[in-house]
Amino acid sequence: MNFHIMTLFPEMIMGSLSSSITGRASDKGYISFNAINIRDFSKDKHHKVDDYTYGGGAGMLMQAQPIYDCYKSIEQDILDKGCKSPRVIYVTPQGSVFNQKMAQELASEENLVFLCGHYEGVDERVLEEIVTDYVSIGDYVLTGGELPAMVMIDAISRLVPGVLNNDESAMTESFNNYLLEYPQYSRPEEWRGKKVPPILLSGDHKKVDEWRLEQSIIRTKERRPDLYDKWLAENPPKTEKKKRRKKKAAEPLASEKMANDNTTEDNNIGTIS
Ligand code: SAH
Repeated sequence: MNFHIMTLFPEMIMGSLSSSITGRASDKGYISFNAINIRDFSKDKHHKVDDYTYGGGAGMLMQAQPIYDCYKSIEQDILDKGCKSPRVIYVTPQGSVFNQKMAQELASEENLVFLCGHYEGVDERVLEEIVTDYVSIGDYVLTGGELPAMVMIDAISRLVPGVLNNDESAMTESFNNYLLEYPQYSRPEEWRGKKVPPILLSGDHKKVDEWRLEQSIIRTKERRPDLYDKWLAENPPKTEKKKRRKKKAAEPLASEKMANDNTTEDNNIGTIS
């Protein structure tokens, strides 16, 4: 996976992504990132890249030409390597809001180009010409697109095989199947009088899995009712209890109990544990 970032502040991008997990992954060749300075493509003798907006209004706008030429040079490099024309993501508060599902989808691309805006934004005409995806990281306005691009690159990178030491951790963590991750504990067994839940010390993997799923459900319901509703829609409560009993099925899983409880009057998650 190769990330190409069009920016006026390449040092911001390279400084951050070269550290920690993304830095190690790039050293090992699982991912690569290249921040390209849009200013290098300016045809203005003072290397200007912004100008006033037509129609008036506060602030400066990034001009079309340097961005277009910058993109064309990146695209040419990619095509020369025998790859297809890349997706181009403009990070903007006017885009669809980024989430884990989008990260998963983008992680299967071979090349991704990010355009980081600055000042008041970017001349619309170049966006029409090169952008394939408009993506926001949330409903607030930042000074530039560098942080949003880094947020997205970080989230996508950790889904690229090999980037995380333990691939399983990307499978069980928050947002998979709409559930937030369960609480976790490390040594010591007791800290400031708080004990690790005994089930986690039991060595019974089935029980541990059940407990974790139950905790994930409780946590999601409490903290992100919007996600919980989505999870519930895909995991509807099994109301046919009688049928199941007839089949002499085993005790329902804790998660099934929870889903069933949701259909009763007593909807209080505090009663489940
Ligand atoms: N005037 C613009 C905002 C410009 S902010 C508007 O109202 O839409 C300057 C740049 O920061 C943008 O071009 C964009 O690249 C980036 N940016 C700001 N907030 C962002 C967000 N929430 N998500 C993604 N990019 C953002």
